Order: sequence, then C-alpha cells, then structure tokens
Amino acid sequence: MATTNAKTKTRSAYEALPLGAVKPAGWLRNQLQIQADGFTGHLEEHWGDVGPNNGWIGGQGESWERGPYYLDGLLPLAYVLEDEALIAKAQRWIEWSLNSQRADGNFGPQGPIQTVNNDLNKMQDWWHYMIMLKVFTQYEEATGDERVVPFLRRFFGFVRGTIEANPLQGWAKARGAEMALCILWLHRRTGDESLLELAGIVAEQTTDWTDVFHDFPYWRKVEEWDWTTHVVNVAMGIKAPGIRYELSGSEAERAAVHRGIDSLMTYHGQAHGMFSGDEWLSGTGPSQGVELCAVVEYMYSMEHLTRVFGEGRFGDILEKVAFNALPATISKDWTSHQYDQQVNQIVCNVAPRNWSNGPDANLFGLEPNFGCCTSNMHQGWPKFAAHLWMGDGSGGLAAVSYAPCAVSATVGGGAAATIRVGGEYPFRETVTMDVSLDRASEPFAIALRIPAWCAAPSLTINGANVSLNAVNGYARIEREWRDGDRLTLTLPMDVTTTSRNLYAISVERGPLVYALPIQENWQLLQKRERFHDWEIYPGSPWKYGLLADSAYEASEFDVPYQPFDAAQAPVRLRASGKLVRGWKMEGNNAGTPPIYPNVDGQETVELTLVPYGSARLRIGEFPLIGEREKAWKKRM
Ligand SMILES: [Zn+2]
Repeated sequence: MATTNAKTKTRSAYEALPLGAVKPAGWLRNQLQIQADGFTGHLEEHWGDVGPNNGWIGGQGESWERGPYYLDGLLPLAYVLEDEALIAKAQRWIEWSLNSQRADGNFGPQGPIQTVNNDLNKMQDWWHYMIMLKVFTQYEEATGDERVVPFLRRFFGFVRGTIEANPLQGWAKARGAEMALCILWLHRRTGDESLLELAGIVAEQTTDWTDVFHDFPYWRKVEEWDWTTHVVNVAMGIKAPGIRYELSGSEAERAAVHRGIDSLMTYHGQAHGMFSGDEWLSGTGPSQGVELCAVVEYMYSMEHLTRVFGEGRFGDILEKVAFNALPATISKDWTSHQYDQQVNQIVCNVAPRNWSNGPDANLFGLEPNFGCCTSNMHQGWPKFAAHLWMGDGSGGLAAVSYAPCAVSATVGGGAAATIRVGGEYPFRETVTMDVSLDRASEPFAIALRIPAWCAAPSLTINGANVSLNAVNGYARIEREWRDGDRLTLTLPMDVTTTSRNLYAISVERGPLVYALPIQENWQLLQKRERFHDWEIYPGSPWKYGLLADSAYEASEFDVPYQPFDAAQAPVRLRASGKLVRGWKMEGNNAGTPPIYPNVDGQETVELTLVPYGSARLRIGEFPLIGEREKAWKKRM
C-alpha cells in the first residue's frame, strides 16, 4: 500500500501534516490547557535543569538531553494551543540554538557535556542533538522560518563529515532512528538526494532493531543492563525498522515491526497497551512498572509507524496508550507525575519494590527516581494532537484517531478543506465530522481508521448510510465532497474481557481500559513552591476479583473539564465481584492475582469500574472468579 513519493525517493503510506494543521478541540484541548497550566507552562521557573542556567540557552548547567526534551514538548504544545506566551518561551531556546551555529555547521553548547547521567562520553555525543533536530522540524512546519532549512543543511553537512570518525554510540546508537527521520524530513523538504546517503549511514550505525524484533530474545523479566532491553530504547526502537523501510521498501522491515510488537505484548505486555519496563523489559506481572518516558516515546513511534505504513493497528495502539497509560501516570492537575506506573497500583510510597528503579519510582512528584521523565513527558499530548489526521500523499486525508479537533489541509486538486471532528470520543461512540471547503465541491478521499475492537462500525453521510470496507484498518471513502457535508461515524463499544496470565482478566470498552478505583489518600512527602512530592495510600479495599459471569453495564455522564478523574468519570461500568481472601501483598505491591481465588463465604458486590487513566490507585488486572468462558470455542 505504500507509495513512492513522486518528489523524493522514500516510501510512506501517509504524510504527517505540518504542526498547526490540526487544532485540538473539546476535551483534548482542555487536556492540553491543563498541561500548560501545570508542568509544561511552569517547569522552567521551578526546576533548575531546564531553568535559566540550562546549557541550551547559554548557561553553565545541564547541557545534555533535558533542555531539548523539554522543548520537544513545550514547542508543539505552544503551537497547537496557539498560546503566544508559550510560543515566546519556546522561541528563546530556538533563537539561542540558531545563533549558536558555528562555521563547521555544528551548534549547541560547547565544552564537556553537563549532565547527571554518567553512561555517556561527556566529550562528544549525538543523542541530545537528535532531540533538538526533532524540535526544529516541528518549528519550521509551524512557522515557515526560512532560517531552519539552511541551518539543518549546514548541520547535516557537519554530521556527514564527522560521523564516520565519531560514530553513534550508547544512547545515540540505540536511538539513531530519531536522527534518520529528521534527515528524511529534510530530504522531503529539499529533494536533496545526498541526504539519503547520510540517512543510510545513520541507519547502518544504529542498533539493528530489525534483528532484535525478528528473533526476539527477551522472554522474561530482564535484570541486567543492556541497551536493547532498556524500556525507553525499545519504545523508540520499534520505529527503527519503519524508518529503514522508508529508505529500502523492504517488507522484512514491516514484518520486524509487527513481530516485535507481538513479542513485546506476549512476554512483557500490560493491560494498558504497553509493555513493562521498570528500567529493563520486566515481564507481564501487573505490579511491574512502565516508565513515563517509554509511554510518550511509544506514542511517538506509533505516530511514525502510522505515517510510514498506513496500517490501523498502529492507531489502535496509539489510542490505547494515549487514553490509558498516559493520563494514569500524571496527576489530574499536571503538577506531579510518576517514573513507573503499575497496572495494579495499590499504594504509591517510598518502599523497595521488585525493580531496578529506586524506592521512590512510583511516587507522584517533581522528579521521582530520575528526572528524565520530568523533561520528556511534555511531548505526549501535543504530538498526539498533531497526528490525529494525516495526508495520504494524493490529496486525501486519513483519520488516525477521532479525538475532537479541526484539521485544515489542501485536498484534491487544490481546495482548502477543514474537517471539524466532534463527539468527545473516546467517551462517546459517535463521531461527527463536518466538512467545509473553499468551493462548492471537490473530489478527494477520506480514509477512516476502523479500530480492530469495533465489530459493527457504521457511517452515514448527510444521513444516508454508506458501507465501510476496511483494508488494513482504514476504510477509504472517495467521492465528490460538498461544502457542508457531515459524516457520522458510529463505533459501538462492547465491553470485552481479555485473558491475561494465570487466567486473570482486564476489562475494555472501545479504546478505554477499565479499572477498579481505590480511594486515594494523598499525603504530602516533600513540599516545594509549586510541584510537590506525594505518597498515595489506599482508603478502600482493593482485593477484588471479578465474577466470570458478571454482566457489564456502561453508563455515561457529562464529560468534565478533566475527564481523567475517577470522581467525575464520564463513562463507568457496573460489574460484579467478590473480595478475594488469599490475595496477598508481596514486596509492597499487590501480589500476583491468584489463579484459584479463595472467595469462600464472600458476598457478591456491585463494583463501579472507571477508565484506567482516571484512577491513580487501582486494580486493572483482576483474578477471575468462577468458570471462565472459553473464548476459543466461539472462534471454531
Ligand atoms: Zn524517564
């Protein structure tokens, strides 16, 4: 399905729209505003690592990844919100970098690298540059600043002249796809074919993720250091075969991505759509951790894999992670976050746990365990918003996710189109898309992602039924669209239970995972001016299993300003469960859900489940009580 782009020599199914083409609306816009009002809009004032002394704005402080990480979220947030104050904040960093470029094309802070990390060569590294390159591609798209393309050409000239003598190492070697994708971005912008050669060199120097994912060797929790089991590297590396596919068109690269995701979910999968990693890949246990950096990087990888392959699977994963794992690990007012989240998270406190991270890794705070997530978390929502829609390379548009927004693009033979997406999906099943054109009508295609979880999607256009024929997860509607057309897409969300290890189950409805919320008793651990550290202790019982024959009844409530708040959850499920007598705490966590839960004499109680992302204490993987429905029999 991939087409070779006419102007360039790379292959991709879709094209990302320039930053600013998609404007978030509804709950998603509110979410971005909450982020701006919390950490992202105020981190510089309260955290020295990205404050006035940062090396990337000319100071003597941290000069490795933290400044670029922060900007890689601040800048897209500023432009999707069209917030002038945030734009001005980001611009200081942009101007400093542009003005720092030297005659040889290199730029950025000079002298030994200042960082608390000790696992890098502090005299020379490529990794932190890769983040800043991603910032510049977004900045150019949003502003058209004519300084950027020549700046990047000079820098890649410097890279070409030095990268063979100073090859990618360490973090940069594991994450080289991030540089390759920026080189390919510049190639598409300029048509310069010498950039393809450079992209090939960088891809060749990058860890061979294609091999890692084809014959995946990590079947159990990993307990020792390795670049290819580090959860953030894996979350980033999954897109590396996709970037190689852009260069080569080899189907072995596409297969590597799918085999990699299958293996990760089999051996390390978690109910919220990600794999575990409380530093290294750490198995399927629901009390293992997932680092916040991995959450936002996996989302960014899914955005690129959607662009390259145009397959609905990547959008399904993107939504599941964005709507569940991301909000769950950040406080509802965006003033504290975790390093590690757990699917079964019954207490967040300073205590040793079965992981290689510190005893504070599941606290909600400013920089629990380590400050990487504090600087990197900002990219999650803004980049998600920017990739809700893509171009199909031939004048059409593709809906990657149905979160509310307005997308504007040139379509067909040159018409200006805006599509307004309403409906507060994923908290509702019906999505409306209103088409406006700068002329009466225009022929072009709209490709609608049909989620794999949806058994019976339906579409009307101006009230008339239209059949949907999904190929690789997208249903393409090609017609003469008229100004004022309305598409109404209904994606019925049935409740399903997913079998997990030892017959435990998780509960899903559409792209949302549902969890039992535990009453949260937030206790202040360290007070600061604005961003404090908190422990959370449980105020209600957590040892519930779900009955195998439970009915699940969904109820809808108003979608509040912050929908990821258990007390105001816009969708709730009623289910039946029992307290499990023998379910123990192990190592300061909920123990493994028992395979034969002891519920002798226990009453059946009605439980209310809420979206996983709204409960900061919760059970998301439940012991199953009673005779399991044998789902395979339905498939035979
Ligand atoms: Zn991190």
